[in-house]
Amino acid sequence: MATVTLADIRAARERIAGKVERTATVRSPGLSAQLGVPVHLKLEHRQTTGSFKLRGASNAVASLSAAEKARGVVAASTGNHGRALAHAAKLEGMRAVICMSRLVPGNKLDEIRRLGAEVRIIGNSQDDAQQEVERLVAQEGLVMLPPFDHPAIIAGQGTLGLEMIDQVPDAALVLVQLSGGGLASGIAAAVKGVSPGTKVIGVSMARGAAMKASLDAGRPVPVEELPTLADSLGGGIGLDNRLTFAMCRDLLDDVILLGEDEIAEGIRHAYAQEREIVEGAGAVGIAALLAGKVKPNGPVLVLLSGRNIDMDTHRKIICGDTMVERAA
Ligand SMILES: *Cc1c(COP(=O)(O)O)cnc(C)c1O
Repeated sequence: MATVTLADIRAARERIAGKVERTATVRSPGLSAQLGVPVHLKLEHRQTTGSFKLRGASNAVASLSAAEKARGVVAASTGNHGRALAHAAKLEGMRAVICMSRLVPGNKLDEIRRLGAEVRIIGNSQDDAQQEVERLVAQEGLVMLPPFDHPAIIAGQGTLGLEMIDQVPDAALVLVQLSGGGLASGIAAAVKGVSPGTKVIGVSMARGAAMKASLDAGRPVPVEELPTLADSLGGGIGLDNRLTFAMCRDLLDDVILLGEDEIAEGIRHAYAQEREIVEGAGAVGIAALLAGKVKPNGPVLVLLSGRNIDMDTHRKIICGDTMVERAA
């Protein structure tokens, strides 16, 4: 069966060296004291373009043939993949078209346009945006680079796992965001490849957790896409999922779901205690620890995956609003 191996991830690390930052990992004194075990934060929200998605996008673009590069790339994206792909394509001098649903916040859209990509806004769900992608592939010959279910994307995200376990080799538990599962698949393959005893737990929001629902059902299932503070975790896993469903099923030790107020608490803690601005998706690992939903018995490694939050929304959350109404 198709999968992504540790060797694929190591090859991706070579391919994208110099194109992405090696982000820092720091110990959180507050969370370490609260949990009674060392808690380390991987500051990947400081990655170029504001999220880890640049790793997968850079690896996928660098893996294209010269003929494919000449045709250009297209993707559906809730924002961060689109932004990363726009950046990676621009570096290669390639055309990029990004298709997204109306749920995507305006700040993410503006940034993608600034990076020189064409933006198409289609429908109310990731699936609607995906149909436009397929039309552009068929009619204009663009190469589709999907946000998660693609071997080069998963291998690229896996380079983050290699860095994390390199920075904290004694990690007993890694907490990783879970949406389409490209991130969790890549990180789990890397971490368990290097350190088989380390547990990897996926964290999603309760509002529209597509991978969790699919794992419970034993096959990819559709879920209704709902507004959430963790907007980068929205969207389905694809009913014809090729890679990430099986990899998450086989590699993840558990999946945790969080309520909106718990996610808001994670954003507040990141800001007030760690002095970090993170988006909702980026804060779910911290939120899972604060909510007492994981009970680690050794060093914990928590991924902060992105920082692309609308600053008005961020300010409202910091000021205590948990039910932030969504403008998008
Ligand atoms: C895309 C994204 C995720 C989830 O990644 P998947 O590969 O879809 O599971 C988590 N956090 C941020 C900030 C993201 O942009």
